[in-house]
Amino acid sequence: MDKESLKQLLKEQNMMFNTNSTKEIVYRVQKLKKLKSILKSKEDELYDAIYKDFKKSKFDTFTTELALLYTDIDEAVSKVQKWSKRKRVGTNLLNFPAKSYIYPEPLGTCLVIGAWNYPIQLSFAPVIAAIAAGNTVVLKPSEVSSAVSHVIAEIVNSNFDKSFFHVVEGGVEVTTSLLELKWDKIFFTGSVNVGRIVYKAAAENLTPVTLELGGKSPAFVTKSCNLDVTVNRIVWGKFLNAGQTCIAPDYVMVESSIKDEFLEKLKERIIEMDFSFANDNYVQIINDKNYQRLKGMISENKVYYSGEFDEASRYFPPVVMSDVNFSDKIMQEEIFGPIFPILTYDKLSEAISAVKKLPKPLACYIFTGESSVKTRIVDEISFGGGAVNDTIMHIANSSLPFGGVGNSGMGNYHGKAGFDAFTHQKSVLDKATWLDPSIKYPPYSLKKLRIIRWVMGA
Ligand code: NAD
Repeated sequence: MDKESLKQLLKEQNMMFNTNSTKEIVYRVQKLKKLKSILKSKEDELYDAIYKDFKKSKFDTFTTELALLYTDIDEAVSKVQKWSKRKRVGTNLLNFPAKSYIYPEPLGTCLVIGAWNYPIQLSFAPVIAAIAAGNTVVLKPSEVSSAVSHVIAEIVNSNFDKSFFHVVEGGVEVTTSLLELKWDKIFFTGSVNVGRIVYKAAAENLTPVTLELGGKSPAFVTKSCNLDVTVNRIVWGKFLNAGQTCIAPDYVMVESSIKDEFLEKLKERIIEMDFSFANDNYVQIINDKNYQRLKGMISENKVYYSGEFDEASRYFPPVVMSDVNFSDKIMQEEIFGPIFPILTYDKLSEAISAVKKLPKPLACYIFTGESSVKTRIVDEISFGGGAVNDTIMHIANSSLPFGGVGNSGMGNYHGKAGFDAFTHQKSVLDKATWLDPSIKYPPYSLKKLRIIRWVMGA
């Protein structure tokens, strides 16, 4: 789509929004239900597209892409009425006699920009929230997972009115043009660097943004943990989607007294879980560029375990690196692939301060049997979200707002938090006219001031 067509699209969505029909609860519910039934009826096409982009199995596609969307839609459908209801709040004495209300109000025309690593989920989850909140939406899926992008465009654009919900495909050029327009909300998922570009562009129009970015998420493994369960959950979370998961544990900080045992068990479980395309439990690296980027991150002399590489099929095996330091190449940027650096520590305080020197991570995982350790790490390290004695699964509880902090993003979504991300809380003081004390009107006097101070208790 060229610039002129994008401008026209936004104009049409503005007009649509101004008809107020997207604000009707019945309309929102109907569109959400429609989206769910379309996704269900097009599951096979989505499975094929994901397979083309990732060699990802139906099992993985359902559990990591579609399941969350279906539950998100069901929750929004059942709760949207409650979420969007005007709420009465208290009124202070100074404003007597009056009632005070908060009206959750849709922001208007919203732009959602998706990332490639979970291209279905990361495109539609913000869209569900935007529709539930009563907005119109333009979705720009990632061009990197191109097969999925095409299917998404096809199924949305042939089923929804362009002025309400439309998909625009394209890369940097199209996204740049989209960012030049004046949206009422921009929701971006992607890298920290592009997040900066989006934030700058949004600032030009004072458009509010949610930025879902990335970073290096640590997993602390302490000697009091249940080591077998810890290793199971860490291996699963790291190698899911071949490590191309924004909240995958990026690296491990293991207490040095259990390092050897941890490494042995880690290797054992990686071998047992047998990450391969044939087992339907592994995916390929998204493209050659990322494959080579990942290869370049490995320091051969620190490889503790590695499977066999197959460049032709972009099969990148699980690689574990041990005796890693924060100064190593692998610790300089988010890995976003199946390489697992293992660092050790003696004192928890030192481990915490080392992690705190890096930008605030999107996730943090704490494996421990001691509640004091858990409390300490949660209290001392700032991170987007995380889990104690698990990885990844906090994303699957819609009562937990999902998002980053600092470099890993701003704002959050899922469940009610998603609805709020696309909503303005409009405050209204509704004053009665039967009383109109003259105290606030000029001419002022010391006596009036004394009364005001008395009323305020100041
Ligand atoms: P990316 O930033 O390269 O791309 C994201 C989107 O931005 C794409 O739609 C792309 O077309 C667009 N884009 C790329 N370059 C642009 C430019 N110069 N100007 C304007 N738009 C541009 O990110 P990615 O490679 O798709 O995703 C990987 C990153 O996303 C990782 O850092 C990962 O941690 C992060 N991520 C975060 C979350 C989260 O929920 N917080 C989820 C998935 C991925």
